[in-house]
Amino acid sequence: MQPAFLRELLEEHNLRKMAWGVPSGYLVTVTLVIFAVFFDRYGLLPNADVLIFYLAPFKLLSNTMMWWAIRNRRFVLELAGLNQLADVILLTAVIYFTGGPASPLTSLYFVVLAIIATLTNAGVTITNACLMVAGYAIMLILISAGVLEVHPPFLQTIYEGNSGISWELVVLDTMKVLTLMAIMVAAMSTVLNMLRNREKELEEKNRELRKADRLKSQFIANVTHELRTPIHGVMGLSEMLAEDIYGESNAAQKKAFENINRSAQNLLSLVDDLLALEQSSSWRLDLAETDLNELAREAKSAAQWMRGTRQLQIEVDLPDQAVIVVTDRKCLSHILSNLMANAVKFTPEQKSVTLRVASAPGGARIVVHDEGIGIPPEARQQIFDAFYQVDGSASRRFGGAGLGLSVVASLTDRLGIEIEVESSEGFGTRFELLIPERAPGVDDQGAGS
Ligand code: ADP
Repeated sequence: MQPAFLRELLEEHNLRKMAWGVPSGYLVTVTLVIFAVFFDRYGLLPNADVLIFYLAPFKLLSNTMMWWAIRNRRFVLELAGLNQLADVILLTAVIYFTGGPASPLTSLYFVVLAIIATLTNAGVTITNACLMVAGYAIMLILISAGVLEVHPPFLQTIYEGNSGISWELVVLDTMKVLTLMAIMVAAMSTVLNMLRNREKELEEKNRELRKADRLKSQFIANVTHELRTPIHGVMGLSEMLAEDIYGESNAAQKKAFENINRSAQNLLSLVDDLLALEQSSSWRLDLAETDLNELAREAKSAAQWMRGTRQLQIEVDLPDQAVIVVTDRKCLSHILSNLMANAVKFTPEQKSVTLRVASAPGGARIVVHDEGIGIPPEARQQIFDAFYQVDGSASRRFGGAGLGLSVVASLTDRLGIEIEVESSEGFGTRFELLIPERAPGVDDQGAGS
């Protein structure tokens, strides 16, 4: 079982990042070889041939194997590990040949570690840092044990004899700093480029998602609009048939026409809910003074119609005086209609549903109370989610699409209405709406006066 930080390297985007280690590995090795050849010519680097003929080719070989592994997605972790080991051996050898603990090139450890950190992850960086420390410590132990001879610090021969800094030292040291800087800059700009490309990809994806979302909204708006016309046609015709406008119908036919009408009405509610859910956040509210008693009476007669012939009592409890708030009448009526539809649907016969209106500080309160099946406590958080139903099984007793309360949630939010639910399983449910005197945004829209 591999540790998580290694498994993470095998993800596609990390492999693509790691692939940048191959060219940077070639770059660092070739640069070192060029320097070694150059200093060897001037007798400044003892044992340069060990670097040039053994260690650098080993690194180039492991680097090439790594390139093969990433290309073929095979033995990636094994060959990446070998490549890292080759890095540490080459670096430690370069440091050893240029003076060991007194080498001016120990900073190469940090440069390479920075490149590794930007191309891999924290786990790999820490592992490499441990390998580097181990390599450096082994070198020191071998020197102190007398196994390895001590080389004079690099460039010492140049400033020996000269009092102060010679022009050779200036050139060589500047070249060293320049090379280290160049490697750092190349690594950083590569990473920044990669980040920028990724940002562009994300922006592009975002644009596509927004476009798909716009098309979906347009599609729902068009389809719901197209559906409403024939549904209204079916409702109108079934009403006319039931009223004997096209000739007398018997009791069974009348019942059938009523069923057709009820089904069409249910379909229309579903279509309206879909449209409301999709568009409520972008609707322009039509705010006006609204009498809640009047709205409650309308909701009651709609609920009576939904109840049909079931033995269910529907009551309204209204104050004597009109309760007026400034709100969007259509939206509030949609909210009440959905709450009443649920109350009627989930309440058994011989029980009652009550709609209560009252003035409240800062506005008004509407309560829809039923003596129905109730909502289990664990489901209360989810009932406002789209498509959620406490019983979502195919064999459920009650119909519906799970949209009603999510529409209520989005419309109450729009109108600045607070909604609270209390429920007791088997005893009933109570939805309480706290309606502000003026819906938010009323001043901007100039309504209500
Ligand atoms: P549905 O179309 O299923 O009624 P809603 O979004 O209106 O969808 O309601 C989600 C779920 O919340 C319902 O399926 C039901 O389980 C539960 N629920 C809502 N109102 C009531 C209520 N008055 N009594 C019992 N359960 C309710």
